[in-house]
Amino acid sequence: MNFIKKNAKDIQRGFDCEYDKPSVCPHCGLGMDGQTISSSFVDFDNGDKLMVQVCCCTACRRYYFFAVLLNRETRQSRFVFLYPQYEYMYFNKNLNRVSPRFMSMYNQALRCEGNGDTEIAAIGYKAALDILVKDYAINMLKVNKDSVKNKNVFTAIKEYLGTSDIIKSEEAVRALTSEYAYYEGAYPMNDFVLLKLYMDIFIKYVETKVITNEEPFKLDDPKETRDIKSQPQSKPQKKAPVNQDPQNK
Ligand SMILES: [Zn+2]
Repeated sequence: MNFIKKNAKDIQRGFDCEYDKPSVCPHCGLGMDGQTISSSFVDFDNGDKLMVQVCCCTACRRYYFFAVLLNRETRQSRFVFLYPQYEYMYFNKNLNRVSPRFMSMYNQALRCEGNGDTEIAAIGYKAALDILVKDYAINMLKVNKDSVKNKNVFTAIKEYLGTSDIIKSEEAVRALTSEYAYYEGAYPMNDFVLLKLYMDIFIKYVETKVITNEEPFKLDDPKETRDIKSQPQSKPQKKAPVNQDPQNK
């Protein structure tokens, strides 16, 4: 889920506390800064206030609401939920042929991110990328499974995708090698944003390889082979139109 920073003092005078406001409409999936229709503050645990805000999407004009916990003393805030929930469902025909497990794992990670579970989402994204690159090596490059399975994601990308210019960057190294389950301290949001950026790059790279491969891996139906080559790039599927923000699939 993507957010924009807002300050509660714009709604309640004197309540100086920044909070995260969802910036993607849960109905139409478009990025926007919803018009605030109403908001209320109620007492919660440990001196926190629960702020519930009803907004109207500037694109589809439908209503949604979200809740955040705010603390006036510490000026800390925590996003709690958004209703209705955005139902993430990513499907890509080309990548699904290479790795159905990637598709499943990627969707699980999207759901975690949608629920605000960033650390679990980061673990899921990294695992999804790991599965995709290894399945690509096994199913398309015909690399022996035993020599692929124990490599870490960074090494696998370097060896099987050959995107040496990208992977040399310090950012990419950090995004792909940093540990997501921190024993101490919170997972840095910057690392999460970086990880998603490089996820997008490598996913598109694998898809391009699949589409342009002159000899796609063996399929049962020869007609299907032609479909793969002519298939335009798939996008995340959802009941409502797709989110326009490239960082949020
Ligand atoms: Zn909308």
